[in-house]
Amino acid sequence: YRSWEVGYVRTTCPHCATGCQYDLVVKDGRIVDTRAADGPSNRGRLCVKGRSGSFDFVQSSDRLTTPLVRNRATGELEPASWEAALDYVAENFKRIIGETGPDSVAAFACSRSANEDIYMLQKMARAAFGTNNVDNCARVCHAPTVAGLAITLGSGAMTNTIADITDTPDVIMMVGSNIEEAHPVIGMQVRAAVERGSKLIVVDPRDIRIASRADIHLKLRPGTNVAFANGFARALIHAGLADKAFIEERTEGFAAFAAMVESYTSERVAEICHIDADDLVAAAELYGRADRAPIIYCLGVTEHSTGTEGVMSLSNIAMCAGKLGRPGCGVNPIRGQNNVQGACDMGATPADFPGYQKVANAEVRAKFENAWGVSLPEAPGLMATECFGAMKDGRIRGLFIFGEDPVRTDADTNHVLSALRSLDFLVVDDLFLTETAELADVVLPGRSYAEKEGTFTNTERRVQRIRPAVEIEGTRPDTWIFTEIMNRMGYAQPHLSAAEIMDEVASLTPSYGGISHERLDGAEVAGRGLQWPCPTPDAPGTPIMHVGGFTRGRGTFSDAEYRASDELPCEEFPLVLMTGRVLHHYNACAMTSRTEGLNAIGDSSFIELNDADAAALGVADGDAVRVASRRGEIVTTARVSAKTSPGETWMPFHFQDGNANWLTNAALDDVCKVPEYKVCAVAVSRV
Ligand code: SF4
Repeated sequence: YRSWEVGYVRTTCPHCATGCQYDLVVKDGRIVDTRAADGPSNRGRLCVKGRSGSFDFVQSSDRLTTPLVRNRATGELEPASWEAALDYVAENFKRIIGETGPDSVAAFACSRSANEDIYMLQKMARAAFGTNNVDNCARVCHAPTVAGLAITLGSGAMTNTIADITDTPDVIMMVGSNIEEAHPVIGMQVRAAVERGSKLIVVDPRDIRIASRADIHLKLRPGTNVAFANGFARALIHAGLADKAFIEERTEGFAAFAAMVESYTSERVAEICHIDADDLVAAAELYGRADRAPIIYCLGVTEHSTGTEGVMSLSNIAMCAGKLGRPGCGVNPIRGQNNVQGACDMGATPADFPGYQKVANAEVRAKFENAWGVSLPEAPGLMATECFGAMKDGRIRGLFIFGEDPVRTDADTNHVLSALRSLDFLVVDDLFLTETAELADVVLPGRSYAEKEGTFTNTERRVQRIRPAVEIEGTRPDTWIFTEIMNRMGYAQPHLSAAEIMDEVASLTPSYGGISHERLDGAEVAGRGLQWPCPTPDAPGTPIMHVGGFTRGRGTFSDAEYRASDELPCEEFPLVLMTGRVLHHYNACAMTSRTEGLNAIGDSSFIELNDADAAALGVADGDAVRVASRRGEIVTTARVSAKTSPGETWMPFHFQDGNANWLTNAALDDVCKVPEYKVCAVAVSRV
């Protein structure tokens, strides 16, 4: 490790999308601690992952430090020089593109990496590979947010800021968001608001911790969000709480929407959702009568085969009540990974250039063709979840995966494994030899957030800096890797610094037009970042969206009807399985599992069983159980309680041991192809 002169390096947490600011404390060339900073979203707070889980992985002894290339004779991954590995990568992508065309390759971007890395990865896919088959892991979490909010409001992002929705709300409504575990620092601020007197409505199938502080907890049946939202909107309208002036002046489609929700009586919705009809009406009236009432939601809304409808139905509620475009209100998706907002903003999606500019729009395409000096493909590419099917049937033959581990994280592990094994050529750029990297033909050792300049964009659209604190010998900057591959593929791309890359982003992306490293580091905005839209170098950024008008003009009501989940319980698989997160680990555990203290809290999977179900199965708390679905089976540990309702179970998705994704259903949302992680049918038996 090379010693650096600085002792404290201000940066942004690499875990969830809260975007907490802290200093990495560096001593003798190693990071030894973190120190909370007064950032705009964390205001001096950090959670256990930020405090303890943010640097051991950077310096872990199992970091990859040399490229690996599979020896086709022995089948083993063997160390190789950077020159040889990069030549081999370019040679094979060129071969496949020459044989079956540019759309027979694809690239997945890392939503934990910097905006500058992601921009260059999508540029590599489009300008050097010649395909729009590029995507990021929003596809398996908040893609319905991007689509659903764009359709209804015009921008697929959080409408307000974390401080705004937690400082002085009258009522907070949380839907499908276990905020104290998944986004703990926002959870702390929600809890503080409740302690100061804000009312709280929790809509969630489990007794999550924050539900104990709720004025109303609607413990609804998994997969029934759209029925709930339609019934909630009907109750608003029937209580005279629809904001007629707002609806008239700012929206369209209300008459058809009001007619559609009329059949969602509180009694019918109570039956569908397994909730109390009076509680539904009381919740709607509490929300509707409040002046400042944000809706906060997360993956409990999006990870369904009706995820986009679920998001649109929350927009319906906020528009109906006139609670958009003003302080303390809005529709507020809490994004999962630290930079998944940025990964979408940077154009790592198959239909969009950076800034959600459509690849199918000739004028937009001409702008990028002029800037990049290359002809670009017109047709939107395949979404990541569609790529797996395309790998199996030979339409996708080459894949570049940057910092993602779909074997661990994507639904239906057998499906993912068989798809990846069908590939002609797989490259993985990562920090560790993950389960996915073990399948690769070439593995390239990239760099973590603590080894690079760049920016992350948090859930409230706030662009903040990351900075290098250490250097791990043998690794290379990811932008250097992509640039080297582009040049070897025949696309002349000069090596650019992260600041120069952000300047290129700004020159081509209106919503980032006023964002630069120089500005983020300068006295004017230092410490608070910039929230897009920020179109010009003198623009202050936009804390609250849709003030005075929606991005799309008029907000549009969606008339989505409730549809049942793809897979419902049956005689053979009588229980519903949901998946989610725990406080002390983060997603695939690639980072948090390298911190001993976090593993000591828990390092293996478990299943929450309702006590009545457990009694019927003869299962006691702590027993080993076999959990089976139509796709696979695992062995894990039973946790018996009333946290889930009878007939419903829940598992974390973090762990290799007893990974829930051997069970989950890869049925996809119609619009944006997110898998239905939150509902599948399982059978549980004692081992
Ligand atoms: Fe990091 Fe999220 Fe915890 Fe903040 S809340 S310290 S961003 S994991």
